[in-house]
Amino acid sequence: MPRKIAAGNWKMNGTRAALTQLEGIAATHADCDVLVCPPFTLIGPAVDTAQNRVMIGAQDCHTQTNGAHTGDVSAAMVKDLGASHVIVGHSERRSDHGETNEMVMAKAQAVLTAGMVPVICVGETLTEREAGETLAVVETQVAGSVPHDATVVIAYEPVWAIGTGLTPTIDQIAQVHDALRAQVIAMIPGGDIPLLYGGSVKATNATEIFAVGNVNGALVGGASLKADDFAPIIAALSAS
Ligand code: PEP
Repeated sequence: MPRKIAAGNWKMNGTRAALTQLEGIAATHADCDVLVCPPFTLIGPAVDTAQNRVMIGAQDCHTQTNGAHTGDVSAAMVKDLGASHVIVGHSERRSDHGETNEMVMAKAQAVLTAGMVPVICVGETLTEREAGETLAVVETQVAGSVPHDATVVIAYEPVWAIGTGLTPTIDQIAQVHDALRAQVIAMIPGGDIPLLYGGSVKATNATEIFAVGNVNGALVGGASLKADDFAPIIAALSAS
């Protein structure tokens, strides 16, 4: 069975005051892996606060280790701070920064080279879903942006479900995750990598989402910012 992971993506939220929320998350009992990805500015302090009770990750990195790339941060730099994971290819990076599958692949490979785990995001837009293209879009993104490495994590995040309060039906989540599992089994020896669902996961829908076959956890945005919101999601995954 793949590892179960409750991952939080804090996006561009949080100053040092938010470390009290991380302390609450770290104090939560978990029978699963828990990962929190704060902004770059909080990675070092978060590692200190977490004290190895939860894992800390970044939300992006550059493809290169160092060099003339003003404002960018490399995988080696966040690894040096104690990060274990890096989210790459989040839909907000793909749309806000024009990241292509090729760029996401290069970032994922940089994360692996630095000795960390890439959490690679894929997912269709509403227009693509309504055109019946969901599986084709997701399969193309996986083929183009996921290295053939048994340590990677994939997060299926329908773009239209992120931060909107909308979620696919349980059958729609199952359909994509089953297709993803078949694809990664063919791509990656063993194929036993965690497949996370992301998009408006909250305490009230976590249990039914985690009951779906081939869902091995969640990537959570808004509901990971407060310990009181994230803790029930961690509990639901632990009980699944
Ligand atoms: C995300 O940021 O990856 C995400 C899924 O956000 P939310 O849970 O707020 O929809």
